[in-house]
Amino acid sequence: MSAADGNVVGTTQIVDHGPASQKWNLVILGDGYKQSELTKFHTDCAIFVNTMFGTPPYDELWCGINVYRIDVSSTDSGADDPVACGGSGATPKTYFDASFCNGGIQRLLEVNNSLVHAVVNAQMPQAHMIMVIVNTTEYGGSGGDVATFSLAAGAGEIGLHEMGHTAFGFADEYESWAGCGSGETGHDKYTGAEPSQPNVTTDTNRATNKWRDLVAAATPMPTTANKDCSKCDPQGNPLPASTVGAYEGALYNHCGAYRPQFNCRMRALGNPYCAVCQRVIRQTIAPYMASWTWGTSTIGAGQTQRWWLSWNGYPGLEWIGVQPVTPGAELDWDTPGMQENPGGSTLYWITVRNKSAVPVTFHFRGSML
Ligand SMILES: [Zn+2]
Repeated sequence: MSAADGNVVGTTQIVDHGPASQKWNLVILGDGYKQSELTKFHTDCAIFVNTMFGTPPYDELWCGINVYRIDVSSTDSGADDPVACGGSGATPKTYFDASFCNGGIQRLLEVNNSLVHAVVNAQMPQAHMIMVIVNTTEYGGSGGDVATFSLAAGAGEIGLHEMGHTAFGFADEYESWAGCGSGETGHDKYTGAEPSQPNVTTDTNRATNKWRDLVAAATPMPTTANKDCSKCDPQGNPLPASTVGAYEGALYNHCGAYRPQFNCRMRALGNPYCAVCQRVIRQTIAPYMASWTWGTSTIGAGQTQRWWLSWNGYPGLEWIGVQPVTPGAELDWDTPGMQENPGGSTLYWITVRNKSAVPVTFHFRGSML
């Protein structure tokens, strides 16, 4: 149940968009993976990274993101599953001591955060976001300064939701604590101060609301009101899904707190992040998009594309090339061409070939010395 129950094997960079000092660095660790299961951990990391790359707005911010995988083996598989929450009572010996049933809530899956930080500080101290994948198919996860998620169906969605809390400070946008239909009490109406999180509010005034610049003049404020605060609002969205306004029911309360869109990944898994959450993610990661990173392209199976960069003056070339982001892609490119123009600029180019049988999405970039 501690560092005595396994080993830190080492760190591998699995997405490389440049030096760690210039990028937003995601670090992924595992708990409850035996040494013989580390290959499975690698696969589980790759699945999450592919899910993240396919999720707006991370797709457009991808060139600003590095991902590192820290392999940690445990003596046993899985996570503690206390009988107090109806679990099996299992207590496997795992390095970070992952356990369900924190605070008496079965799905609340937590690890020894200080031990996670100690390992990350030793292996990859430039981490901006730390996630721990727990090797169990039982449903669970948590936010906090270390996000966790299990391998239950849709686990990537849990990871993206928890990352919303940990990396971007989002509140939960759901309007119930124990679940709509639970008959819960004490969650009828939020009566606290204006929440500090960017994606929930008590303010339905269009002149002062904190995401007011995203609210169209024709959108009612509040956009929906719950007629019966003893339970969740049963009404559907009266407006198109993309409408930003103030929908009543958020922050575990049926009334009194409002969310920006009818749905958001911070309200229910499987939805996109709402426009307000997406904007915060962009504002956080965009500064790590280096100016020398040149966008993204897709190349058909068996096709070639030529890419070129032009710099003023006659600088030497540090690096020019492509990085595939499609899983299992095979790309190659030739020795860079170079031409000094009489006008005082230098042109470098490469020809990229897709050797795969499927279209491949890739980043193209180059840097000068
Ligand atoms: Zn949101």
